[in-house]
Amino acid sequence: MNDKKFDSKHIWHPYSPLPAISEIYEVTGAKGSKITLADGRDLIDGMASWWSVIHGYNNPALQKALHEQINKFSHVMFGGLRHKPATELARKLVKLTPKDLSQVFFADSGSVAVEVALKLALQFQMAAGNPDKYKILSLKGAYHGDTLGAMSVCDPDNSMHNLFSGLVTKNIFAPRPKCKFNDEWSSSCLNEVKNIIEIEHKKIAAFIVEPVVQGAGGMYFYHPEYLSGIKKICEEYDILLIFDEIATGFGRTGKMLALEHAGVSPDILCLGKAMTGGMLSMAATITTKKVSDAISNNPPFAFMHGPTFMANPLACAASIASIDLLLSSDWQERVKNIEQILNNNLAKCRELSAVNEVRVLGAIGVVELKHKIKLNTIQPEFVKRGVWIRPFNNLVYVMPPYLITNDEIEKLADAIYEVISAL
Ligand code: PMP
Repeated sequence: MNDKKFDSKHIWHPYSPLPAISEIYEVTGAKGSKITLADGRDLIDGMASWWSVIHGYNNPALQKALHEQINKFSHVMFGGLRHKPATELARKLVKLTPKDLSQVFFADSGSVAVEVALKLALQFQMAAGNPDKYKILSLKGAYHGDTLGAMSVCDPDNSMHNLFSGLVTKNIFAPRPKCKFNDEWSSSCLNEVKNIIEIEHKKIAAFIVEPVVQGAGGMYFYHPEYLSGIKKICEEYDILLIFDEIATGFGRTGKMLALEHAGVSPDILCLGKAMTGGMLSMAATITTKKVSDAISNNPPFAFMHGPTFMANPLACAASIASIDLLLSSDWQERVKNIEQILNNNLAKCRELSAVNEVRVLGAIGVVELKHKIKLNTIQPEFVKRGVWIRPFNNLVYVMPPYLITNDEIEKLADAIYEVISAL
């Protein structure tokens, strides 16, 4: 059996049946902003491998950091042991995040970082003498991952709640913020969530949001003032605020963290994806001393989570190198430049009858269509045009690596225009 047949018979791909119904392309290499297919074609990467590969593929600084760490040791358990890569990375994360966030838990993926955030919130509320506060408030249109706890705070209609209703905890949902990023702010935008909190606050342990950009739940950009508003309401009702910056962190929205658009500090922050520059899977959940003290000083006198690959030294080394590279680069200018070219070149999509809205923020460009698209027909059209863009539902979007050239961004936008024109 050749590899293609074996893959199609035996290997699951994301959100797919087995065998997958859409074409699965073999990759033989990747460098900079290009992915090379087995048939020799180079594709310009519009996806940064789901937001993670911000410095492009095969970055020499990241590779060097990994080689150096491999030569020392690749992994040791984190129970009872510590190592320099974890300490150095934690120091960097504490410095990069708002000043109250100082206590770091290393998780092995974004979904696990969200599970950890939810468990921290629940353990904190128990320790604080609020055992009835065990529900999580989330937003419609949210996406926080595919594990059970994370699923329970994803959009209840567009996600997998119905499919797994026996297993997924029922949480509380507020409507998606109506004020869009560029709208004029109106405090009435907080009315609905305020009402829900006033009624349900005795049950609510924490409010989890993706700050400013709701990603996989709809690529929706909302007004940063919403975050300032919910921060005040959460404080009033002893609700912890969790920011999931797994997709938005490390410069993607034009700020190092999306929370900087509002200047709001949450009680718990999740980072992931671009943290390792897309080299390996790793995430982090960072909280305040108030939360860690409450958990540590009350039964069971420990935070109850500890993955096998916690603080994997290779992933830490990649993250340190990625953060250093980002901080020493002109990432703000690059992201601003991507934003400008996407704005200029996606604008023409607004003329197309299939298009509902075009929106751009930082290095994220979104063309929202009026109807859902068939992935197995649209995907080959993009590949034919030499670009890697993977739409979902009714959204055609790009979030390229920051080193992409102007010419390459234009090619991504042109391909989007052409493919949508032919729908
Ligand atoms: N939160 C957000 C906002 C995400 O975008 C994602 C992944 N798309 C996750 C959590 C889950 O991360 P992972 O896929 O690494 O589990």
